[in-house]
Amino acid sequence: MTKKIFDLGNRIHLIDGLDLGLPYRTGTYVIRDEKLAIVETGPSSSIPQILNGLKELEIDPNDIDYIIVTHIHLDHSGGAGLLIKDCPNAKVIVHPKGARHLIDPSRLILGAKAVYGDDFNRLFDPILPVPEDKVIIKEDGETLALSSTCDLTFYNTPGHSDHHFSIHDPVSNGIFTGDTIGISYNDILADIGIQLYLPTTSPNQFKPDAMLNSLERIKSLNVDAIYFGHFNVAHDIEEVYKQIKSWLPLFVEAGEKAEQLGKDYHWIAEQLFNAVREDLRKQKVPDTHPFYEIFKLDTSVCAMGIADYLAKKNR
Ligand SMILES: [Zn+2]
Repeated sequence: MTKKIFDLGNRIHLIDGLDLGLPYRTGTYVIRDEKLAIVETGPSSSIPQILNGLKELEIDPNDIDYIIVTHIHLDHSGGAGLLIKDCPNAKVIVHPKGARHLIDPSRLILGAKAVYGDDFNRLFDPILPVPEDKVIIKEDGETLALSSTCDLTFYNTPGHSDHHFSIHDPVSNGIFTGDTIGISYNDILADIGIQLYLPTTSPNQFKPDAMLNSLERIKSLNVDAIYFGHFNVAHDIEEVYKQIKSWLPLFVEAGEKAEQLGKDYHWIAEQLFNAVREDLRKQKVPDTHPFYEIFKLDTSVCAMGIADYLAKKNR
């Protein structure tokens, strides 16, 4: 049986939301300070997992003070409107550019239906609005007190999307980065015992330069922990920066090459997949490893974002 709740120390727990029905994919963090905060809700399909997790942690949803979403992609905040029904005393904390889409998700829903088609209902339904009086916006540099000794600080960190902030926690000296500096596949690859961090370049606001700037900004905070949206915490911070900085230009180059050759995003996805597989073969990961199931999906979404970025750039 896979583990569903992780005690990460420093009063932080991680609940596996089983997004896409897969373990170790998308997580919700619970910060138990004087105030109770949740970071990320996942999609609506993850809300039952979160409520189960809270029960196991002996937390009454009525006691949740804050639901913080790093950005408004549906796998991070699609469940906010549903979860808030069970957390009537909670406020939802969001980036200034994300707030209106939480209050009125109609454009988010249209956008997701365009990308996911028939899979939309299975993956994301329902996406409920968050009442406007429950929404709190945090600008760059603003803070949120969880106790007299803990102010969370919000940093605007674009690159993956324009509506993305990262949240620094002084107690763990850690930062919740959502998708800003990529995905950690460490738990999925735990049986092999290797670390793998890859950029996530989803459409349609991916900007590689902004992503690198955000990485450097996070790096300058000298944190001891990175809490990924996907998935779990990393303490080998330098390794995270190193891998993201080496993969990101290769991802973009694959897109540029596709342009030169007149190929579409499927071709880009194939290049990304092959490049990573090549690297993992050297580290003795078998081609049949379950990692590739998830990764196939990720390369496809990443490739779409890269193609979209290059098309806009050349317009
Ligand atoms: Zn995202």
